[in-house]
Amino acid sequence: MNRIRKNIIVCALSAIVLSPLHAFALNKIINIRHWTAPDHTRVVIDASDDIPYTVEKSGKIVRIDFKNTQLPEDLPRELVLKKPGIDKIILEVPSQDAVRVQLMLTDPVAAKVFKLKKIQEKPDRIVIDIEFPEVEKQESKEREQVKVLRKDKIVVIDPGHGGEDPGAVGKRGTQEKRVVLEISRKLRDILNKKKGYRAFLTRNGDYYVPFKKRLKIAREYGADLFLSIHADAFKLRGARGSSVYCLSLRGASSEAARILARNENLADIIGGDPNGESTEESDPIILNMFQTNTINTSKIYGKSVLKHLDRVSQIKFGKVQEAPFRVLKLPEIPSLLIETAYISNPREEKLLRNNQFQMKVARAIASSITEFLPAQPPAPKIVLTRTEKGGDAEKSTAEAVKDDDSPRKEYVVSFSREKSPSTKKSAVTTHTVRKGETLGGIAREHGTTINVLLKLNDMKRKDPLYVGKKVKLPGKETEKGRNAKSSVAKSKTYTYRVKKGDTLDKIAKRCGASVTELCRLNQMKRDDVLYVNRKLRLPSDPSM
Ligand code: ZN
Repeated sequence: MNRIRKNIIVCALSAIVLSPLHAFALNKIINIRHWTAPDHTRVVIDASDDIPYTVEKSGKIVRIDFKNTQLPEDLPRELVLKKPGIDKIILEVPSQDAVRVQLMLTDPVAAKVFKLKKIQEKPDRIVIDIEFPEVEKQESKEREQVKVLRKDKIVVIDPGHGGEDPGAVGKRGTQEKRVVLEISRKLRDILNKKKGYRAFLTRNGDYYVPFKKRLKIAREYGADLFLSIHADAFKLRGARGSSVYCLSLRGASSEAARILARNENLADIIGGDPNGESTEESDPIILNMFQTNTINTSKIYGKSVLKHLDRVSQIKFGKVQEAPFRVLKLPEIPSLLIETAYISNPREEKLLRNNQFQMKVARAIASSITEFLPAQPPAPKIVLTRTEKGGDAEKSTAEAVKDDDSPRKEYVVSFSREKSPSTKKSAVTTHTVRKGETLGGIAREHGTTINVLLKLNDMKRKDPLYVGKKVKLPGKETEKGRNAKSSVAKSKTYTYRVKKGDTLDKIAKRCGASVTELCRLNQMKRDDVLYVNRKLRLPSDPSM
């Protein structure tokens, strides 16, 4: 130790003794940033440490007080935002070592304040979310509408990361969140131009969307397919190529997949989901037959994606990789995560920024979608009025999916795809349940009987039918009454004698038909008297 350094240490020590107030370095507010999403505006206060703070909300002001804290000289004392829900932020120094941050809201709206810990390049942060629950509700409603009125194949595209979470960053500063949004938008536009397809994004701007919300969006739309779009990164700059992943219920299929899964699963913590961290480990992986079926379907689709991507870019793994990505935990919707290219590879970073390359990738993915999910010709219309309500089966399915609070009232329970390349040879096709349909109606429409459908779908008569549920139909080879569609409809009716206490409603329920159907079949009106022993024609035996 030389003399000069010794002197510095002595000076430093005496400074501590002489000035107890500054014995410890003050914490610092480093920066204040903000993002706007449709359903919230987020303000982030970057701090030098995990600083304690107090929050006071009154009317249109949210006040956050920090002790032992300083403001940097260059941070303006007033930030005019004029964003939804917030006008400006005022910074004050009430005493030498205290900082007060005041958020001036436009209305007395709900504001959530929480901490995010230091992670990767992100410092400790205090996050203020100004929420617009009515916007969120309206958006959910609109998405549910799409599902109810569905005619087309629905594809939900999920641009990874966003807002607080830039994702991987290339050498030239290219952020994953930006390029994947551009590719996703292109893919959406290509699909929306095709007849029979509708595509939606989980985020259409630079803001963070937690995993649960991404999954909720896919469910609300009643997606036939969910694609999470990303760009890869690795410490070795030479790593390159596209890869395709499906959910793994166990580990990852390769070391690269393990590293990737770890990074992608951190997104909620980096991006700022207050529940993201706590649920990281406790979030149960959904283990049920639906999930396994869906993963198998996803794998088949993944092969098609690889085939099409191979024409426009380098492929890293020739096979669909498996990893426990939280964003793919959709038990009922085939889902893939596509790593379009390596943003950490200088050549591919350049490609990812390139409009032409983005377009090529989007076109390749779109081709794989139309191949895997052919658009259906419009289904024949049946006019039925009664809607079945959910019952026990609905509840048990929902219980198997404990991972979020999204609405579960309309679960798709079966997973056979309609006319997929892989099932071409199989004799089974499916019918997607529309509003007001009954099993009896579907059976007649397809020239079969309720009992055949019950058997084929492993269902009980009392099981509810949800809109969007896929019901397996007997193929031409297996159906005994083939090309007897019309005769089945006519001949396969049962005669039933009305018993005491019967109502049209009860009988309809027992034979899996709607009251309207029974009325039509018996040429009667809803309020006709049902006298005991009156003969009724029913689409199936109600004693089953
Ligand atoms: Zn990513």
